[in-house]
Formats: sequence, structure tokens, C-alpha cells
Amino acid sequence: MIKQYREIKEKYKDYIVFFRLGDFYEMFFEDAHIAAKELEIALTSRDPENRVPMAGVPYHAADQYIYKLISKGYKVVICEQVEDPKKAKGIVKREVVKIITPGTITEINALDEKKNNYLVCIYREKHNFGIAAADLMTGEFVTTEIQSPYPYQELLDELSKLEPPECLVNISFYNDEALQKILKTNFNFLLTTREDDYFNLESAKELLLSQFGEEQLADIFKKTYSVIASGACLNYLRETQKLTLNHINSIKYYERNEYMVLDISCRKNLELTESLADGKRYGTLFWVLDKTETSMGGRTLRKWIEQPLIDIIKIKERQDAVEELYNDYFLRQELKEQLKNLYDLERLTGKLVCGNVNARDLLAIKNTVKYFPKIKELLARCRTKLLVTLHNDLDPLNDVYEILENSINEDPPLSLKEGGLIKDGFNADIDKLRKAATEGKSWIAELERKERERTGIKSLKVGYNKVFGYYIEVTKANLPLVPKDYIRKQTLANGERFVTEELKEYESLILGAEEKLLELEYEVFCQIREKLIAEIPRLKKSSQVISVLDVLLSLAEVAACNNYVKPELTLNDEIHIVEGRHPVVELTLKDEMFIPNDTHIDCKDSMISIITGPNMAGKSTYMRQVALIVLMAHIGSFVPAKSAQIGIVDRIFTRIGASDNLASGQSTFMVEMVEVANILKNATSKSLLILDEIGRGTSTYDGLSIAWAVIEYINKHIRAKTLFATHYHEITQLKKLKGVKNFKVLVKERGEDIIFLRKIVDGEADKSYGIQVAKLAGLPKSVILRAQQILEELEQHDKSNIQTEQIAAAEDVASSETQLNIESIKNEQVIRLIKDLDINTITPLEALNLLYSIKQKL
Ligand code: ADP
Repeated sequence: MIKQYREIKEKYKDYIVFFRLGDFYEMFFEDAHIAAKELEIALTSRDPENRVPMAGVPYHAADQYIYKLISKGYKVVICEQVEDPKKAKGIVKREVVKIITPGTITEINALDEKKNNYLVCIYREKHNFGIAAADLMTGEFVTTEIQSPYPYQELLDELSKLEPPECLVNISFYNDEALQKILKTNFNFLLTTREDDYFNLESAKELLLSQFGEEQLADIFKKTYSVIASGACLNYLRETQKLTLNHINSIKYYERNEYMVLDISCRKNLELTESLADGKRYGTLFWVLDKTETSMGGRTLRKWIEQPLIDIIKIKERQDAVEELYNDYFLRQELKEQLKNLYDLERLTGKLVCGNVNARDLLAIKNTVKYFPKIKELLARCRTKLLVTLHNDLDPLNDVYEILENSINEDPPLSLKEGGLIKDGFNADIDKLRKAATEGKSWIAELERKERERTGIKSLKVGYNKVFGYYIEVTKANLPLVPKDYIRKQTLANGERFVTEELKEYESLILGAEEKLLELEYEVFCQIREKLIAEIPRLKKSSQVISVLDVLLSLAEVAACNNYVKPELTLNDEIHIVEGRHPVVELTLKDEMFIPNDTHIDCKDSMISIITGPNMAGKSTYMRQVALIVLMAHIGSFVPAKSAQIGIVDRIFTRIGASDNLASGQSTFMVEMVEVANILKNATSKSLLILDEIGRGTSTYDGLSIAWAVIEYINKHIRAKTLFATHYHEITQLKKLKGVKNFKVLVKERGEDIIFLRKIVDGEADKSYGIQVAKLAGLPKSVILRAQQILEELEQHDKSNIQTEQIAAAEDVASSETQLNIESIKNEQVIRLIKDLDINTITPLEALNLLYSIKQKL
């Protein structure tokens, strides 16, 4: 057996092999050590002479152990006995029946219900990338290509949207160390590699044709890199499942600019689906907008957030549908009531094909489609285009319901081999066998009474055990009363067990019927499963309808609960928001009320808003709020404002905060500059730019100069709508440029303290109030006082004044001036120390110490 094991393990070196041994999966050697450690199970050995380390888990509870290993970054192969051990000559034949990796999990409970689990395949040829993404459980299959001067950046952006747990790549991709490093610092997925010949155009075409048919592929075949990636992706899935995967029946090619482009830092900074703090859902836009009732709806909402539309017609269709549901409270609630009952039909279709589907899963399908006719009926009331389409597309699947209702028992066991799956009346043979078994059983139930009467033995018992079958038990004392036709079977300590010819007959009738029944029930179950598999396209279509409906309902519900308005979408390059609010902050503030603010951006006079104000005043909240409102409008959602007109935006860029990326060896400032470079290269006049404190990571004058030049460049060359928060008050002088306007966040001074008013108004802040904010933060009083003193001194000396376009020339003079100021302060301190000194009383040691501290100050 170990030889057989070794042969299999040899082929699956980097996998943990789950080797079926009776009722257990065993792991051996190194795998056993890993399993014992990671799964906290016992490490044992069967043969004391020849100690082979092993660790095992019971087969019926194996799932939880498998997924624990997968979540820890391992890959697992399942090796089953493929012949009946009773009939086997020698060692039972075993084969690998399934490979499980993070991207190919087929267990619903092991997955995040509101997130697709994509296997992404990337094929790289020089600077060209083909990308394919497949969700094995939902059957979704999409592909795209990247051919651009900045393919790495675009690849990162795409991956940050798909967030795959596993990527399959070709070896020349893998061998690019720089690329690998970028991926590793940004993502935490398993990289699986295959040799370059795995990525073959001709075999990819053949495979795709066999899966999707010619019609769907005509256009995709023009995209070579996509075809190669898709072929490899599908091949890998088939390899792991050892199946043809009928549920993956449609393939979609998309261009990335069909949607609003959001790059990796924008997704992170705007906290669309994961918070910056801990990567969780709380505090994200998804968290706010998600009032979906089904997992399918949750996943679709996430996709909508990750891929806002830019086609105004499609956005308006969504908006109108949301509006209709928003206005009709009762319809909305009734629909939501229905959706609450639904199971994850989409993933159940995946489970039908490649998971261990059981009778309870089929019941879940039944108990989901059961609500479809009612949902369709409710949708018939709707008038807006998208809802009417959903109504038309929703297949009520009555026939599917009928089959399941007639066939599957209401309370079936988990196992498929124990019977109890099929209802009475569905299959005549099953009914017959069941009748035979029950009749036999009731004859036996009667037997005890009959035999007691016949023999006069009051304590006579009829029983059953697995080894001996049915028996009649008589105690020692009563043995003389045993009739002649009793056949002795087993002797016990205080009695004997017997059978009769008749009992034997009934026994074989019952056991024969039961055995056949179990087999037949399983067979019929498989037939029903096959029938459902044939209906998968219909099941999937209705799942999609439900998902979209769920998202629209969720958006309507959120709009109603949070007091949002329907934004007016336009094709001009303007953004007007009256009394806008930050969708997340307004829900998370505890003691304060959220203060709304207006936004007016156009492409003429107020294209670039320069926003000044102290730290903590609310600058970044305001800028993110504008970005989020714009993004929400592109999803089709209502927005937190009193009214809003939003011109279609092709991209949102953000440069916010200083996120250290030390792992990649880049300093904060370097990361910031890379991001700014990316923005300046890619932004268009249709983009929205959110720039928060550019240039903070370097010396004051460097930073100021860069910030200044960036604004000039945007104003002159890009003409993108821009919000720019800065501490450099000098930048406000740029208002002289046409298109640039200054704004400040109002604060009120009360004595030495400040109060944040959170209002954005025209004009520029006169002070940065850093020391007041530091005081609020609880810095020691002596430090605050000292800081105030230094600030006053500095302000007296600081006379720098920078003019537009003259900044470079001014920089040298200005920085040396600041240096001088600080020098003179230090000198003054030293002079004071020496003056205060009493030479007559000082000890030599004190003198030395003083000298030391003077040196420290210089
Ligand atoms: P800044 O970017 O100016 O340093 P933030 O935007 O980070 O300031 O805001 C600091 C805090 O102020 C936020 O975390 C939030 O709690 C609060 N805040 C910001 N804007 C508002 C507002 N409009 N209404 C109420 N509270 C706000």
C-alpha cells in the first residue's frame, strides 16, 4: 500500500495527499507531520517495527480539515478507493479523484458568501497579458487582455478588482522576479505555475470550442492572449475536478474601459469593499450599500461597486429601477420578504456539477425556486425598463419545482447511501421494495407476541444485530420450553439465541429489499441530479435575475433609510452636489452630527479646488465624500445629498495619505511620487482627481515645489476635475490661474483653542493651527508652550513669499533663510545657558555635563 501511496505522491509532490483507507483519509510521512501540526491531530504509526508517520481524519468530517489546510496555503489531492474492497484482488485500486486549491474550492461553506472565488489565469508574452477569471461555483467565466505601455500597473488594477485567492501563470511570467515582487507585496494569493507549453493557442481554441461552442467565440478568437489564458484556465479547472464542467457555459470578453477605471490605490483609499484599517467590511462603501437578502445579490453588489458603469443609458436604467422600488414601499418590502427565503442557487448549480451534492442541497434548490412564481407576479407590477426585463427573464422553473417536490423527501439524511431520499409514490420499484421491507418488519414485530404465546415463555425476545441478523432470545431457565423447530444460533452467558426457517426467510426478504432499496434510491437520486444539471442554464439565468433584483432593492432600501436622492447624470463635465455627505462617516459618527457640504466643479472657473485648513478639520473626509458620491452615482445608486448633478467620469484617481510600502523597498515619498506619476500619465479631462497633501513626504520646499508644479500641469495639460488639499498655504496663490479656486474648512478660535465647524467655504485658511490640534491630541503642556514660543520666533523671521512660476528661483534663498533662523535660535539658547552659569559654585562634573548638553544643542 505504501508503494501505491508513493507512486501517487510522486505525481503530486507539492500537494497534501488525502489517502482513503476505509473510513479514514490518511496522510503519511511529511504530509502527516504537516497535518498533525496544522490540524492539531495526532501523529501516529501503525507498525511499531517500521514506523511510517501517519495522521488521519474521518472521511465524513474531512471537509473542515481540507479547507483548514487550504486556508493555510496548502493544496490537497483526494485519493479514493475506486474499486470495491471486497472484490479487489490484492491492494485496492486507488486514484486521485479531485484536486483542491484555493481557486478551485467547491464547498459552499468554505467560501465567503458575498465574494466570488475566482481562479485567475494570467498568460504573459513580453508586455502583453491575457487574463481569464473563472468562478467554479457560479460558473462565471470572463476574460480580457492588457496591451499597454504600463501593463504592470493595469495588471495590478485588474487583480485588485478580482481579488483571486489563486493565480495560474506561465513560467516566463513567474520567472520575472520584479513582477513577482510587485504581486507579493500587493496580494496574498497562491501562485500556481505551468510550463509555457500548457499555454498553447491551438489546444486552447479546441478546448474552448468544446466548452462554449462556436457562436460565443467568434469575437474572442481575435484576441490571442485572451484565448490562451482562457484555455489554460479551463484546462486547469478540468484537471482539478476531473470533469467537463457543464455549468460553465458562457464566456464573456470585456474591455477594461467599458467600466469606470479604478486603480489599486483608489480602490484601497476609497475603502470600497475593504477598510484600510483591517481589511474588513465594516466602514466600507459596500458595508453601507449592502442590504441585500441573498448571497448572490451580495456578490453582485460587490461587482457593481468594483465596476461602476460609464454608459449613461445603462446607469439611468438602474437608477430608474431603484427609483421605482424606492417609491413603492410595499412592493419593496414584499419582494424583500420573498428574497429572504432564498438559498445560494448560483453556487448550488456549481455544487450540482462538481461538489458532493446531497438531498438537502436539492431541497434547498426546491425551496428557492418555490418563491419564483410569487416574485414574478410581484415584478409584473413594475413599469421601469430594467424591472420589466427582470420580470420577463425570470423563469419560474415550475417544472423543476415539481420534480423536486414529487421526488425528494422532506427530511433526508446527509448521506446518499443510507436511503430515505426519495418520497413514496415517485418510483414504483422503490415503493415495492419499501413495502416488502416494512411488511417483513411488521411480521417480525408481531413475532415476539406470537412466539411468547406459542411457547409460553414470557421473557422471550426478538432482536437484531449486525453480525447475526434477527434472532429469538430465550433465558437459560426457559430453555426446556424451546420448541423443536428452533435452530440454535448463539450461546450467551445466561441464555441462547435461535432462529426459525420462517424468520430466516423474512430476514432475507427484509435485508434483500433494504439493500436493493438503498441502491435504487441512490440511482434515482442521481437521475434527478442529472435532470437538474440539464436545467442549469435556466437556473443560472434566474439566479442572475434574482441577484440584480436584490441589488436594486438594496440600493432602494439604503436610499430610503439614509435619506439619499437620485442624482441627475449628465454628459457635461460638471459636478454639482448640494449638501453632500460622506456615506460612511455619517453613519459611523457617534457624538457629532455630520455637517453637509456643497461641491461645484466645472471645466471652466472651478476645475481645481485647492482646499486648506487645519489637520482634522475634515478635508479628506470632504474629498472622499465627493469621490464616493460620484462613484455611487455611476453604480446607479442614489447619493447622500440634497441634490446632485453628476457628469460622467471615466476614472477616479486618488492620492491620499502616506501608505508605507516598506516591504517593496519603496519609501513613503517614493510611493507617493509613483502614484502621482501614474495619475499625470493616465488622467483625462473626464477624470476626477483627489489629491491629498502631495509632497508631504519630503522637505517643505521640495514638497511645495512639486505640489505647485503638479497643479500647474493639471490645469494646463490635463484639465481634470481636481480636489487638492494642502498644508502649503503658498499654493493658494495659484488662484491666479484660470480654473483654480480656493476653499477652506472653517474653524472658530476660542481663546487658545479651536472648534472645527466642518464647513467648506470660499477662500484660504490663514493658519494651520497645528499646535492647537496637537493640544487636542493631548501633547504635554510644556511641549505645547514651547512649540508656541518657537513658532512665534520662527514667524518673525520667516519672510518667504513665493510667486507663481518663480518658485524654483525662490527655493534656494528661502531654504537658507529658514536654516539661518533655526541657527540663531540655537545660538541664543546656548548664550543664555552660559550667561546663567555661576562659575564659583559649579563642580567639575557639572561643568562637564553642561558642556555636553551645549554640544547636544548645537
Ligand atoms: P483632515 O483631512 O482635514 O485632517 P479628516 O477629513 O480626516 O480631516 O476629518 C477628521 C475627522 O473629522 C473625521 O474622522 C470625522 O470624524 C470628522 N469629520 C470630518 N468631516 C466631517 C463633517 N462634515 N461632519 C462631521 N464630522 C466630520
